[in-house]
Amino acid sequence: MMATLGDPRNTIEVLNKYNFVFQKKFGQNFLIDTSVLEKIIRSSEITKEDFVLEIGPGIGTMTQYLAENSRQVMAVEIDKTLIPILKDTLSEYDNVSILNQDILKVDIKQLVEEKNQGRPIKVVANLPYYITTPIIMGLFESKVPIDSITVMVQKEVAQRMQSGPGTKDYGALSLAVQFYSSPYIVANVPPNCFIPRPKVGSAVIRLKKHIEPVVQVEDEKLLFKIIRASFNQRRKTLINGLNNSPEITMEKNQIMECMKELGLSENIRGEALTLEEFAKLSNRMSNKQNI
Ligand code: SAM
Repeated sequence: MMATLGDPRNTIEVLNKYNFVFQKKFGQNFLIDTSVLEKIIRSSEITKEDFVLEIGPGIGTMTQYLAENSRQVMAVEIDKTLIPILKDTLSEYDNVSILNQDILKVDIKQLVEEKNQGRPIKVVANLPYYITTPIIMGLFESKVPIDSITVMVQKEVAQRMQSGPGTKDYGALSLAVQFYSSPYIVANVPPNCFIPRPKVGSAVIRLKKHIEPVVQVEDEKLLFKIIRASFNQRRKTLINGLNNSPEITMEKNQIMECMKELGLSENIRGEALTLEEFAKLSNRMSNKQNI
């Protein structure tokens, strides 16, 4: 293995060799801590059988570890100035392909079909924080075959993903992530593990995709409309949140009826409902709409 980039001296040497200029707009904070890198690899449970998608390889620090431990790595990097650097730092590996693209514009489903015959992949990344939510939700909603997503995100975002009802961090992101997966925070990572240092704390979170759905939902789109409406106006009651939403067309008295049938009080707030309760409410409302 070539000099590991997890060692800050080697990272600085590569950055100097290529006169690399960090681009804030791409959320570039490169990892320089071997113990964090090893923890990410261990917790992602990748094996020599796995096809791994890495989003934003930077100068290839984590890519080196992924290449050592998996069958195939596909790394998608938006910054074209990093491509020659990646070709250099990853030159020893014949199981890494690099794609110079914006991950939000890649048809990942088709990529998995072509490169892994549609079998589930593992996603491992130190994500650019400005697009964490669209990346993760995009992976889930587009029904890409996925086994798990192990990613570095902003600490607060990791906490929101893992939160349950009645806590201040609980919201639409918690419910969306938990609808598709079981989240587990692997480690908190302080700013000094990166170059340059981010202004916020970070955390590694593992989202293990559910094999079977944890709740039965007749109309997934309606479920997410209800969830969004419930948290749009956090201090409002559930009924008012739903009634005020332009996305929900049902009359207030009909929504009330559905809530009553489920034993939900008219004063309840969205933040008190579990995913299962949201699913039941969505099914009631969808049945009533179809009568
Ligand atoms: N993996 C490297 C590491 O751990 O040192 C770099 C992580 S850095 C937090 C995020 C990386 O994502 C940067 O290399 C950045 O250029 C890249 N990136 C930002 N936006 C992207 C996008 N839309 N598509 C693909 N890569 C992106």
